[in-house]
Amino acid sequence: MRKRIVAGNWKMNMNYKEANNLFEALSKIKISNSTNVIIAPPSIYLSSFKNNNDKIFLSSQNVSNHNNGAYTGEISAEMLSSLDINYCIVGHSERRSYYSENDKLISKKIDALLNYDISPIYCCGELKLDRESQNHQQVVKSQIEEALFHLSKSQIKSVIIAYEPVWAIGTGLTASSEDAQNMHFFIRSLISEKYDSETAQSISILYGGSCKPNNAKELFSQPDIDGGLIGGAALNHKDFSDIIFSF
Ligand code: PEP
Repeated sequence: MRKRIVAGNWKMNMNYKEANNLFEALSKIKISNSTNVIIAPPSIYLSSFKNNNDKIFLSSQNVSNHNNGAYTGEISAEMLSSLDINYCIVGHSERRSYYSENDKLISKKIDALLNYDISPIYCCGELKLDRESQNHQQVVKSQIEEALFHLSKSQIKSVIIAYEPVWAIGTGLTASSEDAQNMHFFIRSLISEKYDSETAQSISILYGGSCKPNNAKELFSQPDIDGGLIGGAALNHKDFSDIIFSF
């Protein structure tokens, strides 16, 4: 059975005291055995959070594509690994649009992470225009092919995919559970064609884009939706806990 995952992307929010208080409160939640929770705080906090909940894992929000050297301000996969960080978000639409990251660069970041046994949480998703022109599947297909399809079968099994329609991120608009399920099924079919069905069935595919306590249950009940990548609602203890309990 695939792992159910709820991941919270805190982005560039909260000072240390606020962030640590939220993390400590979340650590006390009783999380079911079949669910993993991943928290991606600002990276400056990663080393100081005391994690004593074995269902909660820490993630970085970004990583350098370089291994080490003169890259001011960057953080390497080796550095994350030395802090026992197990996950890292890559390909988020904010990095694609504000920092011009493309799938060629993202594929290098994925390689850097896998070299250190860190699971990439790979974000993909179409713009509003792509959906309106019925081009959404083609856009996601090319993102998946460019960023992931150079990986071996055992490597891709370490990747978590987050389907995040860009028009739904932070907007209050959510994909209908039917549209989200269709895209998750499509992504799984692409992986099955390229690798095999067993590989496709083993990969967790999360939905992201204005996922809230009032829509999580319906989204998570779809057969190919294995949980969510949560932005805004991850900053609120009650909202995030309610989403964790939505399976
Ligand atoms: C995100 O930024 O990945 C995200 C899903 O944000 P939100 O939940 O706020 O739409």
